[in-house]
Amino acid sequence: KRKFNVEEVRNDFPILKREVNGKPLVYLDNAATSQKPQSVIDAITQYYTYDNANIHRGLYFLSELATEQYENARLKVKEFINAMSVSEIVFVRGTTEAINLVASTLCRAKYFNEGDEVLVSHMEHHANIVPWQLISDRKKINLKVIPINDNGELDYEEFEKQVNEKTKLVSVVHISNALGSINPVKQIIEFAHSKKIPVLIDGAQAIPHLKIDVQELDADFYAFSGHKVFGPTGIGVLYGKTEFLEMMPPYQGGGDMIRTVTFEKTTFDDIPRKFEAGTPNIAGGIGLGAAIDYLNQFDRNELAEYENDLLKYATERLSEVEGLKIIGTAKEKASVISFLIEGIHPYDIGTIIDTDGIAIRTGHHCTQPIMQRFNIPATARASFAFYNTKEEIDKLINSLYKVKRMFS
Ligand code: PMP
Repeated sequence: KRKFNVEEVRNDFPILKREVNGKPLVYLDNAATSQKPQSVIDAITQYYTYDNANIHRGLYFLSELATEQYENARLKVKEFINAMSVSEIVFVRGTTEAINLVASTLCRAKYFNEGDEVLVSHMEHHANIVPWQLISDRKKINLKVIPINDNGELDYEEFEKQVNEKTKLVSVVHISNALGSINPVKQIIEFAHSKKIPVLIDGAQAIPHLKIDVQELDADFYAFSGHKVFGPTGIGVLYGKTEFLEMMPPYQGGGDMIRTVTFEKTTFDDIPRKFEAGTPNIAGGIGLGAAIDYLNQFDRNELAEYENDLLKYATERLSEVEGLKIIGTAKEKASVISFLIEGIHPYDIGTIIDTDGIAIRTGHHCTQPIMQRFNIPATARASFAFYNTKEEIDKLINSLYKVKRMFS
């Protein structure tokens, strides 16, 4: 394994050398999307420059090469999350599409009956709320919500109490993008399974921070996006256990997902192809494979330890700022910090520190129910990756003091 060294790692990410507003970029919006190492950029460029052809079609050299690379990326994903089989890896556009796929196809499989419940938590991203509401227009199912406490932790006891004979699916986020809370998903899955209820995990934020083993977790579905794990946008993964994927009907119809088509009747390809209608994001898949190769060079625990160190340091430094309040103080937390400064709107914070080249996210982070829970309109959020440094956190703090001076 390659020894982790932050300066060396920073050299792998060309964007980290650029300036913004005349200052070196300080990129602290990794929960929104991560930056890409040169090897990912090169893999995409290589494909479009020398290897571009459609997959699963021609019997000519380039088409076979493109197919091989795309399917090899699927194998890398399978190994990355330790799925049992490559056929359990469905390529989608991202976490959002993965959850929509599950909601829509389970509904069409007549999996839900009138009055059935899908259990989510109060800290879900809109991507794990709205798809269930969309299908409940077709079939009256109810969303039940596991509450969170004032620290932004899921109330596990309440979760167990809310499970009942109407619960047909538990769908929860692994790590909250707005609070950083890490949920006890293994425990949730174990309990749900003891009641024969399947579980979908929204892994969008967990995948860059934790080593995921879907068999060890025993998740029935695990969804994530390539762009949050140092790969390209427009590619993501739905992992699903074979028994579910087999039971679910196709999501979209078209080329590449069929076995035979006549005007009377169509038969569908095996999983995962059944869910992959049309020409996919071939370069995206190859780029995601390269991102996995990049991460696999390292001991993931070493990266996680470094990120935890950044989280600890940033939490301490932010707590020194008078009037600053951190939203989300879970004991188990990833390197995401939402905060407010008394008397200053988060948008002003974001806009002003941008003039120092510092990129953070401000707003509701597609988690409006969390904002309602804490009775706030928005937060400022700094989120860290292993290429961030303590010096960058110092720059953030200095810039926040500047914001405070402007408002005092
Ligand atoms: N869930 C969580 C927890 C997220 O953080 C995000 C991205 N912000 C999503 C779902 C949606 O991911 P995407 O936009 O890549 O589909």
